[in-house]
Amino acid sequence: MIRDSYPVIIIDVTPRDYGRELIASYLVIGSEKTALIETGPASSSETLISRLDELGIEPDYIVVTHIHLDHGGAAGQLAKRYPQAKIIVHPRGYKHLANPAKLWQASQQVLGEVAILYGEPIPVPEKQLHPAEDGEIIELGGDQRLYIQHTPGHASHHMSILFEPHRLLFTGDAAGVSFLVDGMRIRLPTTPPPFKPELYIESLEKMKKLNPSKIVPTHYGIDPLPGTEYLDRHKHQLEKWLGAVQKLVEKGVSDPSQVAEKLPEYLDEARDVVEKGGKIAYVSFYYSTVWGMVDYFVRGKQ
Ligand SMILES: [Zn+2]
Repeated sequence: MIRDSYPVIIIDVTPRDYGRELIASYLVIGSEKTALIETGPASSSETLISRLDELGIEPDYIVVTHIHLDHGGAAGQLAKRYPQAKIIVHPRGYKHLANPAKLWQASQQVLGEVAILYGEPIPVPEKQLHPAEDGEIIELGGDQRLYIQHTPGHASHHMSILFEPHRLLFTGDAAGVSFLVDGMRIRLPTTPPPFKPELYIESLEKMKKLNPSKIVPTHYGIDPLPGTEYLDRHKHQLEKWLGAVQKLVEKGVSDPSQVAEKLPEYLDEARDVVEKGGKIAYVSFYYSTVWGMVDYFVRGKQ
């Protein structure tokens, strides 16, 4: 589906039976080259490949914003299907795509059964892997290109991608999530442990300097707000959430599951996601966000 007349096709790679339009893969169509931004989880690789088959497209580039399973989990399967494609990743994520054993183990610890739902990643051959430096440019033909900016905070191996000249900014999880549940938009920060708020905010400011027209988080689709307004609101929300979590931790509530239970009393968006978000949104977006914030304040106290 082409939205807002941008040359971008949004492919839903949410694992079947666990909701719709929560995890996106974006096919960016340049005049000469095509790039897929995000692969989605390994368990959705067949859905993604059959959609690309229908479109008759073999991507030239496959870019992952970071290596978490819902973003780069299918990189190995796609590398196999598209042996000519270059897989582009943050230099700190490189070795985990080449050898995902440790990533898989850590993901199971953090996500529990949701990791199983996302599926086990397989290695990407090193000859297809390309580590992207901060500021790197991928030409797609004519005046169309992808500009890569390192945006740590959500994860140390995170990068965001500006699609020029349209100025769409694919933010992965570096600027939160924005998805619809029964027609209601839910926006949340995404701050799993080890969360680094200073870096996260610094990255938001870097992204604002790119003056994006629209923000495109992986979860899910092109947000309707003007890009810089989205980023300002997101920063404000992040600070509000950090404040609420800090108060609870100072009161002695330092178990993430207790904080996750209490937070909806203080924050409307927390209440919305708990009541209506479903399992993936709860575990992958909400709980891991609360956990990262609690962990940050508990670490600070030690
Ligand atoms: Zn994610």
